[in-house]
Amino acid sequence: MSVVTPLADNLRVSFEFFPPKTRETEVDLWHAVERLAPLDPDFVSVTYGAGGSTRDRTLGLVARMARRTSLKAAGHLTCVGASREEVDDIARAYRDAGVTRIVALRGDTPDGGKFVPHPQGYSCAAELVEGLMEVHDFDVSVAAYPEVHPDAASADADLDNLKRKIDAGARRAITQFFFEADTYLRFVERARKAGITAPIVPGILPVVNFKTARKFAEACGTHVPKWMERAFEGLEDDPNTRQLIAASLAVELCLDLKAQGVRDFHFYTLNKADLTYAICHMLGARAPGERTRTRRTPAEGTEDGD
Ligand code: FAD
Repeated sequence: MSVVTPLADNLRVSFEFFPPKTRETEVDLWHAVERLAPLDPDFVSVTYGAGGSTRDRTLGLVARMARRTSLKAAGHLTCVGASREEVDDIARAYRDAGVTRIVALRGDTPDGGKFVPHPQGYSCAAELVEGLMEVHDFDVSVAAYPEVHPDAASADADLDNLKRKIDAGARRAITQFFFEADTYLRFVERARKAGITAPIVPGILPVVNFKTARKFAEACGTHVPKWMERAFEGLEDDPNTRQLIAASLAVELCLDLKAQGVRDFHFYTLNKADLTYAICHMLGARAPGERTRTRRTPAEGTEDGD
């Protein structure tokens, strides 16, 4: 039997989940994890609720993923509203649970107001990364903003900030979501010119609920192109068509990126597997067994002897 390489063309994918609130949504989450796991992700990560609101649930979930699956689990960790000691305690808890990958973020205030550092806290993500490296030699990812973070004084200041995070020990950056390949490609070019050599992984958000996505986009400074608005026009009560359009647009974006040499993709799954699975499939990802199944057609006979 031939060995199946799950990801063709040296593709590498990672999947982001959020901690579910109820038993039912927890079941959905584990279904999503099980469905996506055969695609052999580089890592799976779990977000940390605004203002640290899901601290225990995030920690518990990441620890369970590390314990119950062979996936490399990464915990998100923010420093908003917490002292250094509290944040370091969580980092130690991750380490003690065998979780050595962290997505390190400043975070936002729960009410969306201006960020003010905790008096005894880390003042930004770059400081957080430094602190984490003192706790353990974590594999740290940080956030990057192709369309510039809303708090940044300028695009160049934002890049300087990203460089500070990488210089502090982060191994890669994961971008905020964006909708046009050029946005990402131009950003990476600017980052390389600014001396940032670490991988910058595009964050892909498959959009099904356009209204909600537009709200998120407005809050984080992501441009929503007119063509996207038109694509979802009149489909508010037609979730099936929206789902098809979501898949088609995200596949197009990913294939554009792949054609430009991008090989790493981070998916904001929103705890649903189907769309992300379909997009990965179109990128060339195959779970073990899929190739075998597609070869067993009547037309091809039984030359393999099975
Ligand atoms: P920072 O890198 O600290 O920077 C934020 C902004 O402040 C930048 O514009 C920077 O230029 C500016 N800045 C930083 N330091 C200084 C300084 N010393 N002087 C002046 N300006 C400065 N949020 C959550 O709450 N939980 C999550 O799990 C989560 N996961 C995320 C995952 C990804 C991949 C991404 C892209 C974002 C995620 N976020 C999450 C959102 C993130 O917390 C927000 O975008 C937040 O506003 C900024 O976090 P940061 O780590 O980029 O901050």
